[in-house]
Amino acid sequence: NKHIIIKHAIDGLPNESDFELRSAPLVLSAAQGSKEVVVKNLFLSIDPYQLNRMKTYSSTQKTSAAATRIQPGQRIDAFGVGKVVVSGNQEFERDDVVVGLLAWEEYTVVRPGTTLTKVDPHEFPLSYHASILGTSGLTAYAGFYDICKPKKGETVFVSAASGSVGSLVGQYAKLSGCYVVGCAGSKTKVDLLKEKLGFDDAFNYKEEPDLKSALRRYFPEGIDIYFDNVGSAMLEAAVANMNLFGRVAVCGAISEYADAGKRVALDMVDVIYKRITLRGFLALDHLHVYAGFISSTSDHLRHDRMRAVEDISTGLESVPSAFAGLFRGDNVGKTLVQLNE
Ligand code: NDP
Repeated sequence: NKHIIIKHAIDGLPNESDFELRSAPLVLSAAQGSKEVVVKNLFLSIDPYQLNRMKTYSSTQKTSAAATRIQPGQRIDAFGVGKVVVSGNQEFERDDVVVGLLAWEEYTVVRPGTTLTKVDPHEFPLSYHASILGTSGLTAYAGFYDICKPKKGETVFVSAASGSVGSLVGQYAKLSGCYVVGCAGSKTKVDLLKEKLGFDDAFNYKEEPDLKSALRRYFPEGIDIYFDNVGSAMLEAAVANMNLFGRVAVCGAISEYADAGKRVALDMVDVIYKRITLRGFLALDHLHVYAGFISSTSDHLRHDRMRAVEDISTGLESVPSAFAGLFRGDNVGKTLVQLNE
């Protein structure tokens, strides 16, 4: 069973050379009735948060990411879509297509207690279950509807807008009757937002020397909702442009994952007087919206009201560059690795 490991803790930006492809026998529990399910992995989700699990933390850094550290040499759990090849659990049969916590490996032995869900393999491409109908979709949906509580006509700003989560937030915001502007790191991405994904406007943040005045230009009436995927200077600039009672969904801080030095101090007096809500969230705490998320998003897909943008590379050996690429802005849409059948 081939799998990907980190060779050492990663400090700073990840590189392909931090990873290694290894092979080890597939270990099944010897216990009778162990209820294990062996899944052949088809699509692996490649997510920025994993970097926070690969870093070294000092004993005084009590961050929650440190609690789920990935040790060098250890298998790396990750969401994905796969097909059941052996099942000791009566809820699953051979050839069922499932989604859940798998790993950056060819086959995953899913032990009882790990969430594994069967999906309908026929209606949508299988990859959608790891992107628009997977955790990225849930993150965008829960963060936008549960945290931001949008009202028709409000102004919405989304960072990393052409990425997996951002591209969906912008589309939900348009479906909710909001005015939406996204920022992204290249012209191709900006064009995609405006021409294919229905954003009202978009800009390349790398070409803006002053983010605060750029946002003032794009939002002359101020920002009601900021969906933050990046943190640091963009968060500071967005808060400076927020309206009274503005909401910030603090979804991700990718610009700070590899470089804590990028952190900025927010103007908290401004936050107080403008009564801004800044709320961090994890998608997995919002499973109460899961059924509504799947049914409404599936319906939007059926009626061509939403588009899934995916960036798929092939083969387990492409995992390191797909992962490192997230931090270089290589990806457009959801980063997935497809494993050959
Ligand atoms: P994306 O598909 O958006 O990929 C990451 C993108 O981030 C890159 O393509 C790049 O786009 C941008 N980026 C990379 N480095 C920087 C930087 N230094 N400054 C600004 N932008 C940068 O990833 P996801 O959609 O999967 O994740 C988006 C965010 O949401 C991440 O921060 C992630 O950790 C978070 N997240 C949070 C979840 C939660 O439950 N709270 C769940 C899932 C994701 P560009 O070219 O535009 O710079």
